[in-house]
Parts: sequence; C-alpha cells; structure tokens
Amino acid sequence: MKITYSIIAPIYNEIDNLDELHRRIGEVMDSTGEPWELVLVDDGSSDGSTEKIRELAKKDKKVRPVIFARNFGHQIAVTAGLDYSRGEAIVIIDADLQDPPEVILELAKKWKEGYEVVFAVRSEREGETWFKKTTAALFYRIIFRITDVKIPLDTGDFRLIDRKVVDVMNQMRERHRFLRGMSAWIGFKQVGVEYKRAARLHGVTKYPFRKMLALALNAITSFSYFPLQVATYFGFTAAGISIIAIPVVAFLRMSGSQFFGGQATTLIAVLFLGGVQLISLGILGEYLGRIYDEVKGRPLYIVSEAPMEKR
Ligand code: UDP
Ligand code: MG
Repeated sequence: MKITYSIIAPIYNEIDNLDELHRRIGEVMDSTGEPWELVLVDDGSSDGSTEKIRELAKKDKKVRPVIFARNFGHQIAVTAGLDYSRGEAIVIIDADLQDPPEVILELAKKWKEGYEVVFAVRSEREGETWFKKTTAALFYRIIFRITDVKIPLDTGDFRLIDRKVVDVMNQMRERHRFLRGMSAWIGFKQVGVEYKRAARLHGVTKYPFRKMLALALNAITSFSYFPLQVATYFGFTAAGISIIAIPVVAFLRMSGSQFFGGQATTLIAVLFLGGVQLISLGILGEYLGRIYDEVKGRPLYIVSEAPMEKR
C-alpha cells in the first residue's frame, strides 16, 4: 500500500510526551482518510523512551521505530527519519507537542494546492523564556542577513516536504546539518503557514544554550563564507588606518607633541590586533574542523534497531 503521509518525530528523553504525541497525531492523521506512518527516531534516550517507542510500535503498525546507538543530535535524528520515511508528503514535528499536530492539516492543504515545501511560521511562542525568544529571533535575523539562501524568518523544522525535495535532501550527506537551510536551498515552490507555537507538554528543553550555539554555527558555516571574509575586511581597515596614522604621528612628533608617546597606546594596539588575529584563526579553525569531519566520511548516525531496511 502506498503511504501518503510520513510524520517524523525525533525523540530524546520524551517519555511523558510519547503517548499523547501518538494519540494526537493518530487523531489528526486518521481524519485525512489517507494512509500514513509515524517514524519515531530515538536519539539515544536514557529515560525509558526507547521501550515506550517499542511498545507503541507493537500496538500500532503505523509506528516505525528507528533507534540510534547513542545521542547524535536533533538534526541527525530528523535526517534518519527522512531516510526511513516512505510517504509522498513528509512532515517533521517536535515530539514535545510544541508544534500542534492539528496544523499538519493546514500544511497538507497547501501541499495539495501544489506547494512542495510548506513550512510553519511561529507567529507566537508560548511558555518559553525571554532569553530563548530573543536569542532565537536574533539568530534567524543574522542567518537571513549573512547567508546566501533566504531561510524564512521564525521558522523551525516543523514543515511538510514533498517526496521530490526529500529525495534531494537525502542525497545531501553533509555532516553539520541545518535542515531548514537545506530545504530552502533546494528550491521548488515553497510557502509558509502561520501557527501559534504551544508550550512544551512535559519535560524541559533538550536544546540548552550550548546546542543552540552549535546549531547557529552550523547554519552559518554551511551557508556562508561571511565570517572568513570578515578577517579580510578587517585587515584592509587596520592597514588603511595605520597608513594614514604614519604621517599624522610623524607630524605630531616633529611639532613636539607627546600625544602618542606612551606605552599604553602601543600595548592596546598590540593586544587588540592580537585578539583579532586569534579570533580570525578560530574562525578558520571552525571551517577547517568541518572540512576534516567531511573528509573522514563517517556515517551520519548508527542505528541499533530499525524494523525494516530503508525505503
Ligand atoms: N531532540 C533530539 N535530540 C537532541 C535534542 C532534541 O532528538 O539531542 C528532539 C527533542 O526530543 C524534541 C525536538 O528534538 O522532539 C526539539 O527539542 P526541544 O523541544 O528540546 O527544543 P526546543 O523546542 O526547546 O527548541
Ligand atoms: Mg520543544
């Protein structure tokens, strides 16, 4: 039987949310009257979510569990979901029910109208800290400014993607993945649908500041050379200033001024440029490390348990 919808939910310690997730998605998807499947990717959970997923799969044949050997991170878990899903329309959703499953129907409506990527835009966010909302808003705007692909603002991974686009995404095996960027980069007809992002049902966020920063770095390095170019711009500016400064300081000296006489000015200039050079080196390192990771060519994830072969 051909499957129309694949719903992918990445799961990292979400035991208290799983039953409700399964129930609500079931309710919504059954109402379409079309065949669907729920791909639950266990990203190395340690709270019993793994057993819960096995149990759900035993009860409900529509549930396809993909269980990782360890925690590989959210973007990689979703990637595995894309690899394993068989539907014509693939929906990525968070397991904590922050993305209301009911919105899937609106996404599906746009898909039926002929759009290949239908992303859900967060018009409001409930139950999140001021810090999270501000850093997220800032993040989307920085990415928008400095990257070459126009990644829609305030849009997470909650989206419906047509099989055509998923097939292309599945060929892109880069390790440091930013899926929203990748699906924007591919093109096709894309449209946004607004929704109100709910508060997390149970548990706490699995995205501490460290992981958010890592995701932001992946997004920037995957889609922009801008940080590398900053060093060049800065170098030209610093060199320009010093060329102008030479005659100015010479003139001041000759006219008897002691304005640039102190050690402090020298020290500050040296420390400042030293700092800038180290930062530039660090930026080079970020790109270099990513190249190294690509060259190693390790698999993106290790599956310890999956019911069937991939598609
Ligand atoms: N997640 C995952 N692996 C991780 C971190 C998170 O699979 O290493 C899953 C998590 O279970 C959830 C989704 O990714 O289904 C989004 O995570 P979370 O809700 O914690 O992020 P937030 O909504 O706070 O940004
Ligand atoms: Mg969440």
